[in-house]
Amino acid sequence: LGCEKSIEILEKPVCPICERQAVGGKTHPGCSRKYSLDGLIVASKYRGSMRKAIGNIKYKWQYDIAKILVGILCENIWKFDFPKDAILVPIPLHENRKKWRGFNQSEIFSKILAKKFNVGFADLLVRSIETKSQVGLSKKERSSNVLSAFSIQQDQVKQIKGKNIILVDDVYTSGATMKEACMVLKRAGAASVWGMAITIG
Ligand SMILES: [Zn+2]
Repeated sequence: LGCEKSIEILEKPVCPICERQAVGGKTHPGCSRKYSLDGLIVASKYRGSMRKAIGNIKYKWQYDIAKILVGILCENIWKFDFPKDAILVPIPLHENRKKWRGFNQSEIFSKILAKKFNVGFADLLVRSIETKSQVGLSKKERSSNVLSAFSIQQDQVKQIKGKNIILVDDVYTSGATMKEACMVLKRAGAASVWGMAITIG
């Protein structure tokens, strides 16, 4: 990772909608909508060596770097007031992209985190549409780019009703991807949906 000291820790939890300070990372009541995220767990800013580490890991899985990134999240987890019986659900990659890359970094992060926090893991979502890369898109373009990109694995619908779910991704950028995945899960009856990301950009 080079220099861990240059990682900027997010001192105070933020609301996933307005990204302003929020107690425990819970969505402000005034920001909350029917299908919106209930909170956000994120520990660092997507800058400097964090940006580099995430960039590297996307194309070649590096376990030692991943361990450091997960460690940063774990050290800061006490700041967040999320449901302790939640299931971790990774943001999926489209099948083609996963095949090309060989792995889904969010899936591996979820599995490591589930073990660490002793909570459940379930691969519930499918990326039905191959979306363009979010890089270089405006906030509005990002939202329409991921619109209806997700669906639920048919045999998994039962697993969602009444459950508390935490969506896991590597980077939270405008939240467009997570918000779309959240909507799909809430429509299927999830009791609550939080987001969890290593870093926020
Ligand atoms: Zn807010």
